[in-house]
Amino acid sequence: MADLPIRTIALIRPADDRGVFVFRIVAERRTAFYVAKEIPCQIGGRGFAVHKLGFGDLMHVRVGRGADQSCECLGFLRYGRCRHILGLAALIRKHRM
Ligand SMILES: [Zn+2]
Repeated sequence: MADLPIRTIALIRPADDRGVFVFRIVAERRTAFYVAKEIPCQIGGRGFAVHKLGFGDLMHVRVGRGADQSCECLGFLRYGRCRHILGLAALIRKHRM
């Protein structure tokens, strides 16, 4: 049986008074930390500005249903879903954000 990639997400620091929070995604033995903040979104879904620490990439991530979700990463462009959307959706559910 092939190894399944281990993928976990954790809220490292809850939102501060400016709404900035930090989370971590572990996938395929790689760990990445992200700083994020919810931003106004006019086109459906909840919008987040997400900054991956150490790489300088700023991604705009929308969490919602169907067409109301998007991300600027290569994974989303290729597959129509990605760890950033799935991860943020999981954090929102788990921590009632
Ligand atoms: Zn993404």
